[in-house]
Amino acid sequence: DPEISAEFELLLSWADEIRTMKVRANADTPEDAAKARQFGAEGIGLCRTEHMFMAQDRLPIVQEMILAENKEEREAALAKLLPMQREDFYGILKAMAGYPVYIRLLDPPLHEFLPNQEELVVEITTLKLTGGDPAVIKAKEQLLKKVRALHEFNPMLGHRGCRLAITWPEIYAMQVRAIYQATAQLIKEGVDARPEVMIPLVIEAEELRKLRELSVQVAKEVMAEYGVEVPISVGTMIELPRACVTADEIAPHADYFSFGTNDLTQTTLGFSRDDAEGKFMQDYLDQKIFAENPFIVLDTRGVGKLMKMATQLGRQANPALKVGICGEHGGEPKSIFFCQEAGLDYVSCSPYRVPIARLAAAQAALGDVTRDK
Ligand code: PEP
Ligand code: MG
Repeated sequence: DPEISAEFELLLSWADEIRTMKVRANADTPEDAAKARQFGAEGIGLCRTEHMFMAQDRLPIVQEMILAENKEEREAALAKLLPMQREDFYGILKAMAGYPVYIRLLDPPLHEFLPNQEELVVEITTLKLTGGDPAVIKAKEQLLKKVRALHEFNPMLGHRGCRLAITWPEIYAMQVRAIYQATAQLIKEGVDARPEVMIPLVIEAEELRKLRELSVQVAKEVMAEYGVEVPISVGTMIELPRACVTADEIAPHADYFSFGTNDLTQTTLGFSRDDAEGKFMQDYLDQKIFAENPFIVLDTRGVGKLMKMATQLGRQANPALKVGICGEHGGEPKSIFFCQEAGLDYVSCSPYRVPIARLAAAQAALGDVTRDK
């Protein structure tokens, strides 16, 4: 259990009086949300929904949905996931009652959900060698064919994020339905649930316009059904260079921007985030090409410059736009200084980094004279 001493608590309370940026947490379970509250998080800046789909009891349904032949089959699988998602969101929104919860709709590299091709090949071969049931063999072969057809060489740059929802909108429709059903239920129970919908991997205003329209329509349907009314907020991750340079076109469709600096670093630098650790990257960085590892400390001349550009363009087009960060850099003190300078409204980081972020945000607001230039 997190424990903060009384002295540190006092120091943090002074920091809170000074800082101008809000500090939120990245959390996707009620337990993490509760921990984040104990550390003083003012809401959830990123609730990822991928892990919810990975749970062992759900994976077969998720596979059914991905491998579906058509929309009807996909919707049938999604209908089974709806009550489970409703329960997920109910728990998180309850743990964060009174504070905003930015729920990011599904953003997985699809292969993470699919059966392993090599294992399937072994299974089929074994069945054939041992005289297995031909019908079972045929079904497995068909499955293998489908899995092969969905194989992607670069899944992180593939059918992911909002691209998934542009082609299969029923997935996001199910998630938004679950979010607002959980919210309506909580409101009826007297709990102040405050969800905000977040769309990942947007590169073009039209994507967000369409998915916002879908989200608002579904949210309104649910609210009418339950007879409750809560404000609808839809924002977007800004995590690809094209989103930064077209931020003025995207902003009119967004209530908020949340910088995903993990993907933004990967795509601006052209380095795979999955290979940043433990492979060639450290040897490369040891050559002092970069003063600091850009996956840890914001590269202010690259990713940071794009963030400033996107913030300015976004606010010009939509003065009410809220802007924050939820990539790993959001919990790194030097990056928090940069966020202050860039005019962000909030940072969001892992629950355990929240106290550090509160202190760093206060120092940044004061303009710490000791910091590296
Ligand atoms: C990001 O890209 O910075 C981000 C927060 O999203 P994820 O790490 O889930 O891709
Ligand atoms: Mg991302």
